[in-house]
Amino acid sequence: MSINIPRGTKDILPGEVEKWQIIEAKAKEISARFNYKEIRTPMFEHTDLFQRGVGDSTDIVQKEMYTFTDRGDRSLTLRPEGTAPVTRSYVENKLFGLAGQPIKLYYIAPMFRYERPQAGRYRQFVQFGIEAMGSADPAIDAEVISLAMSLYKELGLKKLRLVLNTLGDAESRKTHKEALIAHFEPSIGEFCSDCQNRLTKNPLRILDCKKDRDHELMKSAPSIIDHLNEESKVYFEQVKTALTEMNIDYALDPTLVRGLDYYNHTAFEIMSDADGFGAITTLSGGGRYNGLVEDLGGPPTPSIGFAMSLERLLMALEAEGITLDTEDVLDCYVVALGDDAKRKSVSLLNELRQAGIKSDKDYLDKKMKAQFKAADRLKAKFVAILGDEELAKGIINVKNMQSGEQTEVRLEELSSFIKQGK
Ligand code: ATP
Ligand code: MG
Repeated sequence: MSINIPRGTKDILPGEVEKWQIIEAKAKEISARFNYKEIRTPMFEHTDLFQRGVGDSTDIVQKEMYTFTDRGDRSLTLRPEGTAPVTRSYVENKLFGLAGQPIKLYYIAPMFRYERPQAGRYRQFVQFGIEAMGSADPAIDAEVISLAMSLYKELGLKKLRLVLNTLGDAESRKTHKEALIAHFEPSIGEFCSDCQNRLTKNPLRILDCKKDRDHELMKSAPSIIDHLNEESKVYFEQVKTALTEMNIDYALDPTLVRGLDYYNHTAFEIMSDADGFGAITTLSGGGRYNGLVEDLGGPPTPSIGFAMSLERLLMALEAEGITLDTEDVLDCYVVALGDDAKRKSVSLLNELRQAGIKSDKDYLDKKMKAQFKAADRLKAKFVAILGDEELAKGIINVKNMQSGEQTEVRLEELSSFIKQGK
C-alpha cells in the first residue's frame, strides 16, 4: 500500500522550487537592505508560549495548533506563527540589553496550523516575517510596511492594496471594548458560539468573525476611531504622514483587526486585487504589539512586525501573470564514447566541477545520440566529446552548442577553455 502526503501539505519539486529560491533570496536581500538580521528559532516550543503569546481566545490557540506530548510528558506545539517565538528568544537571550536598539529581525520558516485546506490555506506553510523590537517611533511602523510593500513591488506585483487601521493604546482600547460590549450584548444570542465567547474576553474579535460578518450590528458597531485618545490619534497621524512621504498609498479600514490578541496602535493588511486570486485576498498582515515582550517576562519593549506566507505571494504572482526567471542551464556536458573514455570522464568531470564549472555526464550507459539529447535537455552551453582515440592523443572535442563551432582542446586545458567561453 502506498502512503500519501498529509492533507494540507505539499511537495515542492524541482521546476517549482526555483521560484521559491528566487523569492526567498529576494526577501533576504531586501531584509539586508533595510538592515534586518536573520533569526532562527526551533520548529516547536512549549505550548504555554502560544497560549500566552498568541492568546487563548484566538482561532490559532483554540483550534489550529499541532500540540503533542513528548516522551518526557511535556506539552509542545509545532510553531503556528513567528512573533511569539521571536519574542521568547528576545527575552531569553536578553537582546534588549544589546547596544544598537531597536533590534531588527527577520525569519523565513515553516509554520503549522490545523486548518481546512483550500487555495492559499495549508497546514504547513512558509512565512517570511520581520520584527522591529525596542522602538515606539511611528517612522518604524512605516518602515515595516514599506519593507513588505517593497518585496511585493520589486517582484512585479501591481494589484496591491494596503489597508490600514489603528487599534489605539491600552486606554483607548479599554473604552472601545466597553462600547463594543454594550453594543453587542443585548443581541449576542443571534451570534455564533465563538462570538458569544468573545463578548467579554475580546469583543474586538467579533468584528473579525467570518460567520457573522453580515449581521446588521457589525456595520453599526462602535469604531475605534471614535475612541482614540489624543496620544493614539497623534501616533496614527504620524504613521500616515510617513507613508505618504514614502509615496505608499493606503486605504483606511476601521474594522480591520488582527487575529492575534497582543496588537495595539498600527494594524495593517496587504491584499491582492488580482483577478483570479481567489476568495482569500490577504497577502500579509502585521501590526504593533507593545505589550508582548513584557507579557513574556521582558522589559517594556514597543515592537512591530508583519508576516506573509510565500504560498500566497506565489499565488499572487501567478494571478498577475508574472513569471520569475528560473532558466536553469549547464555549462558543460561530457559525452564519453568507449571504455577508456568513460573511465577518464569521471575525473574530467571532477576537474570541471572543482574549477567552478556547472557540469554533468551520462550515468545510464547511453549511446552517443542519446547523450547529446540529454545535453540538449539540460541546456548545456558546451558539450565535450571524448573518444578513446582522442584520449590517446590527450585531446577532447568541444562543441559550442550555440554557434555549432567545434574546437580541439588539450585535456588539461578543458576547464580554462570552458571558463573563457561561458
Ligand atoms: P487568515 O485570516 O487568512 O486566516 P490570519 O489572520 O490567520 O489569516 P496571520 O496569522 O496574520 O493570518 O498570518 C499572516 C499571514 O500568513 C497571512 O496574511 C497569510 O499570508 C499567511 N497565512 C496564514 N495562515 C495561512 C495558511 N494556513 N496557509 C498559508 N498562508 C497562511
Ligand atoms: Mg487564520
